[in-house]
Amino acid sequence: MTSFSIHGIGVSNGIAIGKAHLISNALLEVVQYDIDIKNVSNEVKRFDEAIASVKVELNKIKSQLPSNSPGELGAFIDTHIMILSDKSLSSMPRAIIENERCNAEWAIKKQMDSVVNQFDQIEDQYLRERKQDVIQVVERVIKILLGHSNQIAVKNQEKLTILVAHDISPADALHFKNHKYAAFITDGGGVTSHTAILSRSLNIPSIVALQNARALIRDNDLIIVDGTQGIVIVNPSLDIQKYYKQLQDLWGNEQEKLQRIKTKKSITKDGSPIHLFANIEVPNDIVSVNASGATGIGLFRTEFLFMNRKDMPDEEEQFLAYKKVAEAMGKKPVTIRTLDSGADKQTALNNKKISPNPALGLRAIRLCLSEPKVFMTQLRAILRASHFGNIKILFPMLSSISELRQTKLILERAKASLRKEKIKFNEKILIGGMIEIPAAAISADIFAQELDFLSIGTNDLIQYALAIDRTDDAVSHLYNPLHPAVLKLIALTVKSAHKYKKSIAICGEMAGEPKLTKLLIGMGIEQLSMHPSHILRVKQQVLSSDIKNMKASVHRLLNLNEVDKIETLLKRINQLN
Ligand code: PEP
Ligand code: MG
Repeated sequence: MTSFSIHGIGVSNGIAIGKAHLISNALLEVVQYDIDIKNVSNEVKRFDEAIASVKVELNKIKSQLPSNSPGELGAFIDTHIMILSDKSLSSMPRAIIENERCNAEWAIKKQMDSVVNQFDQIEDQYLRERKQDVIQVVERVIKILLGHSNQIAVKNQEKLTILVAHDISPADALHFKNHKYAAFITDGGGVTSHTAILSRSLNIPSIVALQNARALIRDNDLIIVDGTQGIVIVNPSLDIQKYYKQLQDLWGNEQEKLQRIKTKKSITKDGSPIHLFANIEVPNDIVSVNASGATGIGLFRTEFLFMNRKDMPDEEEQFLAYKKVAEAMGKKPVTIRTLDSGADKQTALNNKKISPNPALGLRAIRLCLSEPKVFMTQLRAILRASHFGNIKILFPMLSSISELRQTKLILERAKASLRKEKIKFNEKILIGGMIEIPAAAISADIFAQELDFLSIGTNDLIQYALAIDRTDDAVSHLYNPLHPAVLKLIALTVKSAHKYKKSIAICGEMAGEPKLTKLLIGMGIEQLSMHPSHILRVKQQVLSSDIKNMKASVHRLLNLNEVDKIETLLKRINQLN
């Protein structure tokens, strides 16, 4: 078997060796061929058997859903079973096979195209988007017809299974949290796409932006995924396998060594404490937070509670989720960010609105301000939970001070309604704002005056400052945290926070990159919030830093205007102390 390698962007470190499992996109493989008249009835039978086998498969998946998976997953599978049973898919392709004497795959694909076309005409966006369900169901049938496996959910085989997908939505990735794959690789995606962030939270090596992985890799090929270098090696020779096995062991040893600093205080050599917090998406993530040694939660991306479902979580459901996290963290801070729905994180709230350019559209705080009822429900739930722990509220995507004032007004209304009902909450709850739009960084002075703390969302700050869609792999090579303009925006925000004695954090992916730790703390950042798996590596950097010693070099770096000069000086700063 020929061995070859493919290069992409490593978004989660580590090495995995396992068998490839291709998911989705079977549709691309369908070709049309003629069926001899005497074989037509056999072809119809082949079609019927594939439908029956997918039905069995879906029922099996439903019965095997882990008890902690969201209830909506069961409902999704029911929808798929219903779609499959509809005669437009389960029986009309038979007529196509008979009339056109064509293969079953082609017949069902032809029928699917016509059904999907009808969906496109529907005005209601929610219903229109159900076409994806039809496509997914047909893909399952086609995979069976093509002799591929649909079994992504067979537990015992998963440990050595590497998922190869064209792309996945954050909603799909959330589903994968319940499974134990060895690695995850996709054709699309960017380094800070929400998909990549979620892949990292699976704590397994992941590579995105591979372009052609799905076309080049076949089901069951043996592959090596080097998430640190962003390389996939397909059908490696025995020597290469041996080499990577050694690297894998080395990686494991290093991880073990890092455990030794887990309980050490995160403090620089010259005595400045640097708080290392965790980013979470769902309450169950607190298990990895506790294992990481994080001393708080700097970002709870609450939108993940709203994804993969047709309805909105009500006040009680949200309250229980926030309370669970607050209680589990005890006195440690839990920063709950209000709903950042929109762009690539779609929820039922977005389904109502079509945006020509979602990243610049009705997303995050803008969407919440346009849906005051939904916003009020979440604010009440967060406030109620604040009685049970050390909760802070963080507002995403603020762009102007009037937006912040409007937001604070709704928060005051939520507080007033709870007071009226005599429901307890922390009256002194701290309020923070995400600085992730360049306009907010430039106006950080005014935000620092009207907020208790600032948190820089570098993922979006870079996206908006450099005009680079964070989900678009075609421009991901231009996405550079060390761009002088990005560093200047961060420096400006830090300066404003210090001026008004407000705490300043970074909660974007830059916070979890050990190569940037010394620079960021040298710039005056006091809190870094990241995926729990990065905490110890970042702590290692904190422990070897001397802020006084780096000061002059960091100052010089911030005055440089060329990325390569910045990179050279950064290397020197990282070698200091
Ligand atoms: C960011 O933009 O840096 C951030 C932390 O928010 P998110 O990645 O959820 O958009
Ligand atoms: Mg953001």
